[in-house]
Amino acid sequence: MKPFFIVLFFILVANVYSQSHHLIGDVDISIDKGTIEEKITITNFYEPSNIYEILLNNSLKINSIHLNNDLINFKVDTTKAPLHNSNVYHIELEDILKREDSLKLDISGTFKIYNEVNKDTNVGNINIASNYGVLKAAVCSYWYPQIQKGIIKDFAELLNLKKYQYDITLKSKDCEYIHIGDERPSKSPCRFNKEYGALMLLAGNFKWTEKDNSVFINIDTSKIDPLLNQTQKIKNYYETLLNEPIQSIFSYAKLYTDDGDWAFNSKPTIVFMKPKGQLTNVSASFLSHEIAHNYFGYLYIPKTNLYWFYLESFAEYFSFKYQIATHNTQMLQNKYFNLKITSFLNRFFIKKINGESIKFVRLSQVKNREEITGYQRYNISPFQLLGI
Ligand SMILES: [Zn+2]
Repeated sequence: MKPFFIVLFFILVANVYSQSHHLIGDVDISIDKGTIEEKITITNFYEPSNIYEILLNNSLKINSIHLNNDLINFKVDTTKAPLHNSNVYHIELEDILKREDSLKLDISGTFKIYNEVNKDTNVGNINIASNYGVLKAAVCSYWYPQIQKGIIKDFAELLNLKKYQYDITLKSKDCEYIHIGDERPSKSPCRFNKEYGALMLLAGNFKWTEKDNSVFINIDTSKIDPLLNQTQKIKNYYETLLNEPIQSIFSYAKLYTDDGDWAFNSKPTIVFMKPKGQLTNVSASFLSHEIAHNYFGYLYIPKTNLYWFYLESFAEYFSFKYQIATHNTQMLQNKYFNLKITSFLNRFFIKKINGESIKFVRLSQVKNREEITGYQRYNISPFQLLGI
């Protein structure tokens, strides 16, 4: 075959056997108004079924769905995915969908705007929100429709394993830059056209630069080299420990919040949420925790009430291991030697060196996932894991 026909042949074969849904369409964002409008077509139904479910953040709403050109009915379940701040849209069709059929979704919604005037708290990473002029929609916010054949049972699969063939164009009249997935930030319109996993979106008015293929959004110049060096050390340690490689390129962003000083991993970007005006955090304890989420996931529902234990304590346990291995004396002082577990009449307490007692619930007795407090998630349980 001539080269042209060889290329054409492979394109055709790739399309026929592609094992991912195609997500094609436009997303319009207004940072000033706090609105998102999405017109998304889902196609390439590679697994025959007449039942599909779609997960979407509950600040957005599917207004209508067309199957090819016909309007179809759907049901909304607002109770199935409360942990994900999302609704589940159930579609049941008379006929099995063919690969070339298409579902056209009209979606609209609003997001909260946090700024100097509106200093609300609890911005979280599962919420779609604008923080001081930058819209953030993390991978675990389900800011665009995520579809699955049949009834969704495993939300983690949609987030951590599923890939789509995207061809999405993002537009905004009031954004300086749009950053999506692993792409460089771009001016509007910004097109994302490739096969990829779940996508994070940052859009708004920010500065950015790049070094060693990593993107740095609003990161202080003096912190770029320390971030790259520290990440490499942590990555080497985990990969040697587990013999399991993780992504080679990380990107970094800093957004302002009045919600404390925290961070989250929204692959491939680590986002630092900092009080306004503060420098980027490069501490080994923050970075090693966030990078450990590459092994322990971003958001999921275990079939127990130990949600926070599995999600956060294992990531922090690995962070402990890294810090002990690298003799991070500050960490040893704060976390490792500062705790002493005691029991009285089968009730367990953590005692800090200063004598203060903190009650915690034994894992076998946790009835509600929120009983595992922040202190237990990030201090007590990782400490217990170290002792196993
Ligand atoms: Zn975490």
